[in-house]
Amino acid sequence: MKNLMHYHQRCPVCGRSLQIQVLLLGKRVYCQHCGGGFLATDPSMEPPLTDHAQSPLDSVVADLLERADIVLEQSANRNFFLGSYDC
Ligand SMILES: [Zn+2]
Repeated sequence: MKNLMHYHQRCPVCGRSLQIQVLLLGKRVYCQHCGGGFLATDPSMEPPLTDHAQSPLDSVVADLLERADIVLEQSANRNFFLGSYDC
């Protein structure tokens, strides 16, 4: 159980060294000194995925939303179709 491991990162706003839990890596954290928010990144193991990671995710989400729209549309049409059959 090493859930409370932490590392040191310098606050980009006030420049102080902060203890950040490794659990927060990649998440937005807030400096306890100045309250500035920044992304928790371990400088010793720079993640290769930065801004580029968002575009594939965005396209996947957009794709899913598009499919959901199509499914909803299809089921709506089917319901309407079945409804007219019953009549
Ligand atoms: Zn700060």
